[in-house]
Amino acid sequence: MTDPRLSPLTRRAFLAGGAALGALPLGITRALGQQGEADVIIIGAGAAGISAARRIAEAGRSYVLIEATNRVGGRTVTDTALFGVPFDLGAARLNMPAARPMAAYGRAEGLDITRAPEGGRLYVNGREARDTDYEAFVATVRRAERAIGAAGDAGRDMPAARALPDLGPWGPSARFVVGPIGCAKELDQVSTVDFSRADEREGEEICRQGIGTLVAQLARPLTVRLETVARSVELTGRLVTVQTNKGTIQGRSVVVAVPPSVIASGRLRILPFQPRYRTAVEKITLGAYDHIAFRLPRNPASLAADETLYFKADGARAYMMRARIGGGDLYTLDVAGDTAAGLANAAPEAAAAFAREALTREFGADTAARMGKVHATRWSKETYALGAFSCALPGYGNMRRAFIETVGGRMVFAGEHAHETLWGTVGGAWLSGERAARQVLGLIGVRSG
Ligand SMILES: Cc1cc2nc3c(=O)[nH]c(=O)nc-3n(C[C@H](O)[C@H](O)[C@H](O)COP(=O)(O)OP(=O)(O)OC[C@H]3O[C@@H](n4cnc5c(N)ncnc54)[C@H](O)[C@@H]3O)c2cc1C
Repeated sequence: MTDPRLSPLTRRAFLAGGAALGALPLGITRALGQQGEADVIIIGAGAAGISAARRIAEAGRSYVLIEATNRVGGRTVTDTALFGVPFDLGAARLNMPAARPMAAYGRAEGLDITRAPEGGRLYVNGREARDTDYEAFVATVRRAERAIGAAGDAGRDMPAARALPDLGPWGPSARFVVGPIGCAKELDQVSTVDFSRADEREGEEICRQGIGTLVAQLARPLTVRLETVARSVELTGRLVTVQTNKGTIQGRSVVVAVPPSVIASGRLRILPFQPRYRTAVEKITLGAYDHIAFRLPRNPASLAADETLYFKADGARAYMMRARIGGGDLYTLDVAGDTAAGLANAAPEAAAAFAREALTREFGADTAARMGKVHATRWSKETYALGAFSCALPGYGNMRRAFIETVGGRMVFAGEHAHETLWGTVGGAWLSGERAARQVLGLIGVRSG
């Protein structure tokens, strides 16, 4: 058996930011009741909004945290009903070192968080690849990353696809890993500059109970107003005014922790909305990434728990697999970019047919015949996400900076899209929430560590 040897496919080492996460004493959770003005209004209870609210509560300030749906967590959500075991419909892994404080908190709370198996296994034409194929694949991915990174580092902000040399026979596979898997988009939709700023990640951790469970646990000490949809944020008066489906909320400042796609769609309006920020929400767009989850009993392909499998891509047919999630019978076939967007627009049976076809190609018809219940996510159709994660369109790699600025002296953004180097990750969303909290606390005259 060949050892898995694909290391996480990222570029640069970096120092993790963020202080250690302690348990938040309930006594200092200064959520605001129904009346009065809050120090900070936080819109969106995903990882970023939760992190911001915790920081603001720790500083002894009042907050109102509102969430459009009937649950916290946003793009982290663990389902246990579909397959009877934890299944992360969104993020399934924590990237280290950025998410280390979250993992430490989870462990302290008794969650089972462990290092994910390193690298992955590679299949070619229905069988595990030879050593030379592994080497060729990894070398091609690295060449692609280096070429795009070099263009971005040189400030040539263009479609990442155009920065690539001829990649040879492993080109489609490398393009899939670097584009759809890494950026949720085909490389012609990826800015070289945004790509080149993405930090290297040290490794991944998995939570047996699910990443969604961990994030929901982090929200437990907080007061969250669920099913409260922000429709507009007005920055013109003495106070910030947020109109919601359940009335008006006023505060001294606001953290907008919703995906940029929600603002670009007009579901949340910001008044006034300067052209710079409009451009940012329109050009830092969310791509498509989905899990097609299915049961496959009795481990027919002899795979280890939580293994990642790559396959030699053939044109548009590209996917990645997470095998035997949690050591059981649950698998996901991960699709991204144009394939994910196409399946999200197709009939519900299309994803199951796609997975069955992939299993037949890679492991044979007998294995495919054992495929049980299937469930496919469609993140681009979720009203309050409208996509999977962000990546700048070509020519707009520098626009992400707009999400780190203070707007009108009282509004800041948070979210994975609002982290310049850790975009697309839960850890990045978390750190952006901490940064946003520090900013708003500064605006309302509170010094924070
Ligand atoms: C399929 C998939 C796989 C992924 N895999 C990984 C992975 O393995 N590792 C990783 O690190 N990252 C992964 N990610 C990315 C990760 O999930 C996100 O980067 C992160 O969860 C984003 O957090 P956030 O707080 O920025 O946004 P969100 O989680 O989207 O939170 C925003 C919140 O705002 C709410 N909201 C929206 N509009 C309004 C409104 N008008 N009023 C009130 N509330 C509103 C939403 O309902 C939501 O709860 C994956 C994403 C997907 C979709």
